[in-house]
This record gives sequence, structure tokens and C-alpha cells, in this order.
Amino acid sequence: MTGQTHILGGITASLAFAQLSPEEPVLILIGGVIGSLIPDICHGGSKIGKTFPLLSKLINSLFGHRTFTHSLLFLALSALLFHFILPIDGLAHGLLAGMISHIILDMMTKHGVKLLFPWKVKFRFPFTVKTGGFGEYVAFAALSLFAVYFGYGIWFQ
Ligand SMILES: [Zn+2]
Repeated sequence: MTGQTHILGGITASLAFAQLSPEEPVLILIGGVIGSLIPDICHGGSKIGKTFPLLSKLINSLFGHRTFTHSLLFLALSALLFHFILPIDGLAHGLLAGMISHIILDMMTKHGVKLLFPWKVKFRFPFTVKTGGFGEYVAFAALSLFAVYFGYGIWFQ
């Protein structure tokens, strides 16, 4: 999936979460956008990889691409870390929603993700789409509709 689709996935997931949460939706949304980019820190060509090249290189050489940072273990450790370093719950929840959306979207690609890292098995959906292909375009369109729907539910009702 491209960076734009991941960001839109983070927006949609965080707005969906914000429907159920009493916390400030804007903070959840900001967290969602940032969180949607975090797992690709393992990839030097990604938006976040270009922003933090040294950290990206380190993580890539330690774990490879789409392994540790795309796993339930990473989500659990991040949740623990956010709990201790972030004073605002809404931001932490948004970050996690964005990260979860990223992993789900990557599971829609042929490459899949090592969800249960360090177990080496790759997880992906039975249907997959090609990055930048027609399937991703459809996913992008669907995510756009859901983002508008959830955003409407928060701010206009
Ligand atoms: Zn990824």
C-alpha cells in the first residue's frame, strides 16, 4: 500500500474509534495519521523512513521489512510505551488505531505481514491487491467514503 492509502486508513480508523470514545476527536485523528505511518519505519523508502533514516536503517538491519514493526508484539509494546510517555489518552489511542489500520492494509497485499513475529509465518487476507494498482484504488475510494461517514457522525450530528 502507498503512504497515501495508509494515511487515509489511519484517518478512517481513528475517526471510527472516535465515534465510541469520549476523548477529543481531533487528538485521536492526529494520532491516527502519525500512527498509520509508524510501522513502515522498517522501510527506508517510506515517508517515516525518510524522516528518520538512521533509526529506519537500524530497525531494518535488525528485523527486516514488515516483521517486528508489523506485529502484535510491536502493538503491545507500543501501547505500553504510549501509556507511560504520553500524558493524553486520546493521542495514544489514535496512534494505536492508525498502527492497527496500517497492519490490516498491509495484510491486503500479496507480501502479507509477520503478525505473530518472532514466528516467521506471514499473514494475509485471501484476497490481495497490488500496491498502486486498481485494487488499492478501490480500497482508497472505500476508505474515503467511510472517513466522510465517520467524520460526519462526529462533527455534524
Ligand atoms: Zn507496512
